[in-house]
Amino acid sequence: MADTRAHGSTAVATDGGTAAGPALLEVQDLTSSYGAVRALDGVSLRADTGRITAVLGANGAGKTTLLRTVSGLVRSSSGRVVLDGEDITSASVESMVGRGMAHVPEGRGVIAELTVHENLRVGALFRGKVEKSEYDRIYDLFPRIAERRDQPAHVLSGGERQMLVIGRALLAQPRILLLDEPSLGLAPRIVAQIFGLLRRLVDSEGLSVLLVEQNARSALSVADVGVVLNLGRVVVTDSARTLMADEDLRHAYLGF
Ligand code: ATP
Repeated sequence: MADTRAHGSTAVATDGGTAAGPALLEVQDLTSSYGAVRALDGVSLRADTGRITAVLGANGAGKTTLLRTVSGLVRSSSGRVVLDGEDITSASVESMVGRGMAHVPEGRGVIAELTVHENLRVGALFRGKVEKSEYDRIYDLFPRIAERRDQPAHVLSGGERQMLVIGRALLAQPRILLLDEPSLGLAPRIVAQIFGLLRRLVDSEGLSVLLVEQNARSALSVADVGVVLNLGRVVVTDSARTLMADEDLRHAYLGF
């Protein structure tokens, strides 16, 4: 097993693929509750520019709550969220796009009656004028979306919807993209396509991706770093390669 396993709830490895120097996003000892249910219990992690950080764990581990707390949808009861050196723990959810954070929640929410192109335009609402070239870039990234640009979003397959919501988030020009369960219900071929594209974006544009997944095998195959949560606590943080090789850990927490 990886020797960076947490002792207590807040350990973050300093080796095993986590970068040195200031993080783009730093989550420090974060605790969040829904009434009496403590969903996050002292979680610490970091996400760096040019890296995919996968947050893994079973149902109810706290993955969605982590993203919702980072993006301001859920208020933490203690701990801090720091983006590029600035404490954003109490920042409004509306301010996050302007700060360079885009959150793609689970569920692929598109506006069914609007066309694909109109849905993309929603992603640019918080910005001033958006050049045609920026839409073209999204269509280049997702040719399947380009083919359907004038069709209503309700005709899209699950994979196409996932591409559309990622494309819409990219139009906000984020420095960090929070992605919640993008693989849910998709065929392995489509998951590989979407994850491959994320990898290209991260490598070529220095994007940071904080990827929440129950599909640990696929997530670890594309991620640089993995953070395993269980019952709201960090079990281990290490390089994706090390986590993938850790059979005990995989069986205990990752379901493969
Ligand atoms: P899943 O993949 O099933 O969404 P998860 O790892 O994302 O799991 P969370 O959804 O963050 O986990 O849930 C963490 C804990 O918080 C669970 O015990 C869950 O039941 C609880 N919880 C989540 N949302 C709420 C809510 N709105 N009200 C009350 N409890 C909640």
